Amino acid sequence: MSELELRGVEVTYRRDGRAVRAVDGVDLSVAPGEVVGLVGESGCGKSSLARAAVGLLAPSAGEVLLDGHAVAPLRRRARPAAQRRLQLVFQDPYSSLNPRRRVGRQLSDAVRLATGTTAGSARVAELLELVGLDPAMAQRYPHELSGGQRQRIAVARALAAEPVQLVADEPISALDASAQAQVADLFVTLARKLGIGVLFISHDLAIVREIADRIAVMYLGRVVEIGPTAQVWDRPRHPYTAALTAAVPRADGAGTLPQDLPGDVPDPAAPPSGCHFHPRCPLAIDDCSTRDPRLLDLTPDHAAACILLEDEPAVPGR
Ligand code: SF4
Repeated sequence: MSELELRGVEVTYRRDGRAVRAVDGVDLSVAPGEVVGLVGESGCGKSSLARAAVGLLAPSAGEVLLDGHAVAPLRRRARPAAQRRLQLVFQDPYSSLNPRRRVGRQLSDAVRLATGTTAGSARVAELLELVGLDPAMAQRYPHELSGGQRQRIAVARALAAEPVQLVADEPISALDASAQAQVADLFVTLARKLGIGVLFISHDLAIVREIADRIAVMYLGRVVEIGPTAQVWDRPRHPYTAALTAAVPRADGAGTLPQDLPGDVPDPAAPPSGCHFHPRCPLAIDDCSTRDPRLLDLTPDHAAACILLEDEPAVPGR
């Protein structure tokens, strides 16, 4: 099975004559059958990272590997067959479906495009069942479906390419609350049942906590904390992660009210000096405005980028 690996990925674009670094040296991997949740506020670079991960954007530095082979940025030519097994699921299922074609036809088209073979009704029914829908849905048009059903169709279309990795960019943010948890659970089912690796990108830490094996927290283009979900949730080590977890309402009656972070994510065209989080950080000290922390390994599988963690004992063997 195939691993998705991002090594030092940077995405830079130009705005008003200035270079804007939307993604700033991200290292990240997703193992087969693993669900990795990537969280952060709007504007932190999550969508640029998603597009770079599937080859829709060319990284300005670094590389993306699928099963050890470089993922070439998509050009006019068709994507190489091996890379079709890396699929992106978009935020808005309605705009990614053709409103004038029945669901079954669209799935059949997707199979033909991905594999060069014609999909019979049995394969279409199989795809619908994989995403938890009745095969009779093949006869429907997208406007006849709920938002959750449409997103399931979008996932089924991605599955037509028999992917080994799915990158899902805010796949539940356009759905109502009842559909969100169900569609999020679908990605876990696909990971466990088919061994597909899932990079699940969301601003909703509460949902990500429920489904992800590991969580990566992104701030202004960088991963500032990454680790197993339980560790990141129960003992966040970066002040930004701590603020995000504190902002999630608790269902245990403990009584903490959601706390909002002060201010917004800064403009990536003019990032703050030193630690990019320092203007909003409740723990900032003088050094934070001049020193730029890098990710520190706190345990073999948990890392965070904060100068307050630099005095912790080094991880053995690292
Ligand atoms: Fe906060 Fe300073 Fe740590 Fe940055 S380095 S997260 S500003 S304490």
